[in-house]
Amino acid sequence: MIHSIERITELLSEIKHPETGKDIVTLGIVQNIETENNIIAMNLVFKPNDAFVSSIKRAVEEKIKPVFPDAELRILNLKRQSPKLPKKEYPDIHIKNIIAIASGKGGVGKSTVSVNLASVLAQRGFKTGLLDADVYGPSIPTMLAMNDVRPVMIERDGFELIEPVEKFGIKCLSIGFFLNPDDAVIWRGPAATGALRQFAKQCNWDGLDFLVVDLPPGTGDVHLTVTQELDVTAAIIVTTPQKVALADVVRGTNMFRNKDINVPVAGLIENMAWFTPAELPDNRYYIFGKDGGKRMAEETGIPFLGEIPIVQSIRESGDAGVPAVLNGSVIADAFQKILDGLLQQPVIKK
Ligand code: ADP
Repeated sequence: MIHSIERITELLSEIKHPETGKDIVTLGIVQNIETENNIIAMNLVFKPNDAFVSSIKRAVEEKIKPVFPDAELRILNLKRQSPKLPKKEYPDIHIKNIIAIASGKGGVGKSTVSVNLASVLAQRGFKTGLLDADVYGPSIPTMLAMNDVRPVMIERDGFELIEPVEKFGIKCLSIGFFLNPDDAVIWRGPAATGALRQFAKQCNWDGLDFLVVDLPPGTGDVHLTVTQELDVTAAIIVTTPQKVALADVVRGTNMFRNKDINVPVAGLIENMAWFTPAELPDNRYYIFGKDGGKRMAEETGIPFLGEIPIVQSIRESGDAGVPAVLNGSVIADAFQKILDGLLQQPVIKK
């Protein structure tokens, strides 16, 4: 089914905002309409305290449904900053260290590393936040059993801010908090980066020692948005020992070193480095090869922060919504060492 963005815009311009009598397209409430297959996605951006948010959302659904009966409609409501405060676009938010967790490919354990690193940071008493920027497949809500969470807006210094939701001592925010769990993977392009910009700039992250940012795999728009909107201190690259995964490390490193992004790469973590079966605890099986990550770190000049074995309980913890390091897992030691290594990097602010 081909949706015409023009036709959708035309339909929505028939909806009047009851307060002003002007249509919601002219008012700039409708933004970033996108269509893909049978999905129609858009952002509705309201001014703070707009009393008509739900009635307008309903009106949008009622306009689109009869014309595109087979379409799946995805609407993300966002809040516009109060127009009464034009002096500054965003409030000052001080975060000591912003650490972006990246990987060349999906499925190498980037989110697992993000969640467990944030957990050990919080355990050691650092004020820690976790931003799930993996807008195409947010897994943090599942990994922290936060699928039903809905963040609230608060006011600080005259700005409306999203209040992150605290779990295990970590202040968390994910686009998944604003979607149904089954809806993931559809935010692309401007709709995703628009939401992410708001998460970066209009979220109450102030006062954090560390904000861990779980990036999507690969390289792309989201990486640009995150590095433009947030003053990223350093990136960590997660890989598995396979050759292909390591080739992706080089690509990822080059992206961060690119002059437009220019973020220091503070370390490489090798995940799934070996397998130890529970019944043979002294045996290590190097399924994907040995020391690949270490060698790659040497070749690229990136500090090697450590290796994490394949342990069944890591996946089980992720699925159960409790970070493995808080669950008595054998990988707790590995993450403590990784954190020690990270804290020694000169870019990290104490
Ligand atoms: P990514 O964020 O790179 O896509 P995830 O962190 O979501 O990867 O991990 C993919 C899957 O692999 C998840 O089910 C996770 O629980 C599992 N996993 C990750 N690291 C390990 C590990 N070291 N041992 C066992 N399972 C792991």
